[in-house]
Amino acid sequence: MSELLVSNGWVYDPLNRIDGERMDIAIRDGRVVDGVSASARIVDASGMVVMPGGVDIHSHIAGSKVNLGRMMRPEDHEKDVESRTSVMRAGVGRSIPSTFATGYRYARMGYTTVFEPATPPLKARHTHEELNDTPMVDKGCFPLFGNNWLIMDYLKDGRLDECAAYVSWMLKATKGYAIKLVNPGGVEAWGWGKYVSGLDEPVPKFDITPREIIRGLCKINTFLNLPHPIHVHTNDLARAGNYETTIKTMDCVRDLYHGGKPIIHITHVQFTGRSGTDWINVGSGAPEIADYVNKHEHAEIDLGQIIFTDTTTMTADGGFQFLLYMISGNKWGNTDVEAETGGGIVPFHYKKSNYVNCIQWGIGLELALMIEDPWRVHMTTDHPNAGPFTEYPRVIAWLMSKNARGNVERKLNKSAHRRLNVSSLDREYTFYEVAITTRAATAKSLGLKDKGHLGLGADGDVSVYAINPTTINPSRDYRLVRKALRKAAYTIKDGKVLVKNGEVVASVPGKTLWVSSDVPQDTYDQMLTNLKERFEDYYTMRMSNYPIGEDYLKASRRFETVAGQRI
Ligand SMILES: [Zn+2]
Repeated sequence: MSELLVSNGWVYDPLNRIDGERMDIAIRDGRVVDGVSASARIVDASGMVVMPGGVDIHSHIAGSKVNLGRMMRPEDHEKDVESRTSVMRAGVGRSIPSTFATGYRYARMGYTTVFEPATPPLKARHTHEELNDTPMVDKGCFPLFGNNWLIMDYLKDGRLDECAAYVSWMLKATKGYAIKLVNPGGVEAWGWGKYVSGLDEPVPKFDITPREIIRGLCKINTFLNLPHPIHVHTNDLARAGNYETTIKTMDCVRDLYHGGKPIIHITHVQFTGRSGTDWINVGSGAPEIADYVNKHEHAEIDLGQIIFTDTTTMTADGGFQFLLYMISGNKWGNTDVEAETGGGIVPFHYKKSNYVNCIQWGIGLELALMIEDPWRVHMTTDHPNAGPFTEYPRVIAWLMSKNARGNVERKLNKSAHRRLNVSSLDREYTFYEVAITTRAATAKSLGLKDKGHLGLGADGDVSVYAINPTTINPSRDYRLVRKALRKAAYTIKDGKVLVKNGEVVASVPGKTLWVSSDVPQDTYDQMLTNLKERFEDYYTMRMSNYPIGEDYLKASRRFETVAGQRI
């Protein structure tokens, strides 16, 4: 039996409506309990902030494109070396850390769970090999479905039951956690050198529209009772005026909502929240998007907040990456994944002197400050696309302090600054709201009932930060907040202290979370017969070699769901 008591800290646990109360958190054998014996190890959190372990809903940390990014960027690694210690493996990397360094760096900030949000199903084996090698955190991955040939065929033919059975098969085969769509239909079009604009242009050769793909997968997501809503990177990424596509995407599933938690998650909205008609007059569409989210409970978003720094962009949206390559003239990597998706990689430096980059910075913060309900706006940087995850403390300081934002605003491109609304926004996040947007809301959205809170039975994942909320004023003292968040006083995972005073003191492998969803057997069998034929036609690989066994995961945590009665 192992026992730990986090004593006397100021606890922020929004899922249990605890807003800065001084209390103890007791953990026995990895779970929060109501008390421990006198022989328990004590972690003294007096005068410190205590929160559930951070839960990241969207961060590209593992898999083929991440690794291609690492190979493309020796300059990203050479000045940032993580030395071996008695408990740590060596590693490198600034914007694309190596696997072990990724785990250590998350743990140092008090994060204990991370989701890789874009895995080509065919390459899921690679993703899991890297997730197996990412210590300190629990993790999972979202397979890509929005440009999959079989999905488009099934939906086009109206065979939703079989399509749902196929999604269920794919989640098991790839050990995936949620349905991800990237530029639905558009990545396939780009494979043919074409573009699909908005929601209603048919995908070449498949004669199905993005709207039909999104709606079909949203219905299937609900039917399968999956824990997380469909996770959507919209069409028209980075185009001027694309805030309208973002709103239309949210609105296209509105009639499918019947209460409860949101049914659509739109990711990194900073990239799809632009007004204007071209690159010259691009502006912020955040007010319109925030207004829509404020009025509609079925939708939620994450930010993809820009950091002004050198980073590496990588996405399944290969067409967008080609555009970025043309604009920047930087290195460019491009891939096509047979019958499933594509991808691209381009290094990029966001600059305060650049008009469009400044607009991007403003869009992210305006979304965070204008969307009233912090449960439906999650803090991310779309790591590493808009900036590395190690800069989260900087973003949190901007959310908590108008002064911190003002310090950046003074250095922004002047005409961009004039077009933004950010300086008129006085809102400053509280510690309670920070706990919502970085752990409670993300855990809830992911359907992780044991995470994001510190109630009885929760995973014993706790972060302790050396800031006293009763004496500090985050608006004024934002630098102190930032510093404390960069190096947690303690990070505790399953009741074990992994980080102390910002240093890694112990390492654990962490578990891989995935979903096994059962559908009626007759539909499943019918789908499998059909799938075997299609597989022979479409893939260069045998179907028997495709699925990943549960024994392939270093530590598996399976979530089971049962499909509903009908779609
Ligand atoms: Zn992303």
